[in-house]
Amino acid sequence: MKKKKIAVIGAGHAGVEAAVAAARLGVPVQLFTFSLDSIGKLSCNPAVGGVAKSHLVREVDILGGAIGRLADATSLQYRLLNRSKGQAVQATRVQVDRFRYPRVAKEFVLSFPLIEPIEAEVYEILTRGNKVVGVKTNLGDFSAAAVIVAAGTFLDSTIHIGFTHFKQGRLGEPAAKRLFESIKRLGLKTRYFKTGTCARLDKRTVDFSRLLEQKPDRDVLPFSFFTRFKPKNNHSCYIAYTNKRTHRIIKKGLKFSPLYQGIIKATGVRYCPSLEDKVVKFPHKERHQVFIEPEGEGSFEVYPNGISTSLPFDVQYKFIHSIEGLERAVILRPGYGIEHGLIDARQLKSSLEAKDIKGLFFAGQVNGTTGYEEAAAQGIMAGINAALFVQKKEPFVMRRDEGFIGLLVDELVNKGTDEPYRMFTSRSELKLALREDNALLRLFRVSYNLGLIDKAAFLEIGEIEKRIKGALAELRREKLLYKLKGKKAILVNAYELLRRPQVNLEKIERLRKKKFSLSSYERKEVEIEVKYEGFIKREKSYLKEMQRFHKIKIPPHIDYRKLAGLSGEIKEKLSKNQPKTLAAALQISGVTPAAGLIILNFIRNYAEKNSKKKKR
Ligand SMILES: Cc1cc2nc3c(=O)[nH]c(=O)nc-3n(C[C@H](O)[C@H](O)[C@H](O)COP(=O)(O)OP(=O)(O)OC[C@H]3O[C@@H](n4cnc5c(N)ncnc54)[C@H](O)[C@@H]3O)c2cc1C
Repeated sequence: MKKKKIAVIGAGHAGVEAAVAAARLGVPVQLFTFSLDSIGKLSCNPAVGGVAKSHLVREVDILGGAIGRLADATSLQYRLLNRSKGQAVQATRVQVDRFRYPRVAKEFVLSFPLIEPIEAEVYEILTRGNKVVGVKTNLGDFSAAAVIVAAGTFLDSTIHIGFTHFKQGRLGEPAAKRLFESIKRLGLKTRYFKTGTCARLDKRTVDFSRLLEQKPDRDVLPFSFFTRFKPKNNHSCYIAYTNKRTHRIIKKGLKFSPLYQGIIKATGVRYCPSLEDKVVKFPHKERHQVFIEPEGEGSFEVYPNGISTSLPFDVQYKFIHSIEGLERAVILRPGYGIEHGLIDARQLKSSLEAKDIKGLFFAGQVNGTTGYEEAAAQGIMAGINAALFVQKKEPFVMRRDEGFIGLLVDELVNKGTDEPYRMFTSRSELKLALREDNALLRLFRVSYNLGLIDKAAFLEIGEIEKRIKGALAELRREKLLYKLKGKKAILVNAYELLRRPQVNLEKIERLRKKKFSLSSYERKEVEIEVKYEGFIKREKSYLKEMQRFHKIKIPPHIDYRKLAGLSGEIKEKLSKNQPKTLAAALQISGVTPAAGLIILNFIRNYAEKNSKKKKR
């Protein structure tokens, strides 16, 4: 009997993960893409990871995903962001070779005999009753027991460069208009979002001597647990700044801005705004940072991160040349804005399957997210669940307290989003427990049980876990003589001693005169476990407290603008929605658990003040 197949529409970051996951579970995949050479293409910045996104990369990696391996295989520079802040917000960010990345992605995908890439345009999703049965393409019809839509920014998309606009899905690639029409015909609610990218420059024409160099960090772990070579880490980035002249040019150019002249109507990315947005929204800021990032080994192209724009080309030309160090920069590709179609992800189940159409799954930018990592995270979940659907097995749902992937899917399908959604650590109520560094230990069992990693990897990680637990048990048992300056030496429990901020594992080893037999990763985990234990307990008790007060009423006419500690986004959304209960407030997309706690404290103070007034 012929095996049932899955059709994946799109070979971007979501499509690649979906195909790989389904193939790992033994289900054949036909992977449709406009171009075989753009598999895993990085549409925007040549970098993977960053704050909270790195959590997603490591979680995808331990579920057998591609993004971490591909980043390591094409790396140019590693950095650990937020080094001076707590472990929960530290994040790996890898600058990658934008030209090699899709080549390596293609090789990786082709290494799975169960994945058949097909260079074709999908026009239509074919259904019978409320069940998906295949796809219609320019090469003919293909039957499929499940279909995953991972069409990214291509759905009925329009590119804007000043007042010039045309239908393309990425510069130089076609838009998928017919596919979007087909999705609408299936009865799914749709809308449009906007994103954008910056111009690319010729590095031979940049004066690096006037820019600040940012060297790689040397002690950052590779992204993937499965990377067994030392990834390249030998490129620098450089920092430039916009100035008053740049801002004057932008302000003058606004009359030609499709964004400010009402031509672009869709909502843009709040946390990755265009330069014109930054200049208008933050008029008091005299300068904005521009990171000059390498695009590839041996390539002349560099990526000026921070000046994404949809202004006309001549205005781009002028404002780029007003930046110190870029006065003579040759522009190799223009910046542009793009409006693209998507669906409201609240029409999906937690498995990412459409509620009303059996076997139809959606993943990536088409669900309202932005970013490679967010797309990859959904892709892997859709791939796993489409395979389980074909195999008539129960879906795999990751809870939001199990991982950032679970959190992402939960927010999308339950809260939805009214603007491009990107991940932040603050979105999690358990941001200390769900860290980038412990993704491996949190998820290896579930990954093995699903069949996504092999026994050798499972046993290897099991040993790592055992060594960490063993060291923690030893610390709990041991008593050490510890002497503070000017005081008598006392016997202290080693575990308790390690809790102290000024004590590290090395110091404990000196006191016990014996080294632990641990790798540098395991040492770090032991220290974090001990030092964070108390905070994680507190985090969990806050969560319980919040759940207890979910039904508590919010006093009417509360002025959220005056609540200290809330971000601008949260103040704006709460003021607009005026939720009646704490639960309703937390249901609003973008309202974080930390914000919930601030509201809860406000309600309590308010109730206390009122009861005092009454007594008087
Ligand atoms: C101009 C631009 C700027 C961006 N700026 C940012 C940013 O600042 N920050 C950020 O985080 N992210 C940004 N992104 C978004 C980022 O590129 C995406 O979030 C990410 O690539 C989404 O991955 P995906 O897999 O969902 O889709 P994509 O990477 O877009 O891949 C879609 C795939 O679908 C295929 N496809 C589409 N329709 C069809 C069809 N009908 N038939 C066959 N194949 C089809 C395409 O060939 C492609 O392979 C930007 C994207 C663009 C285009």
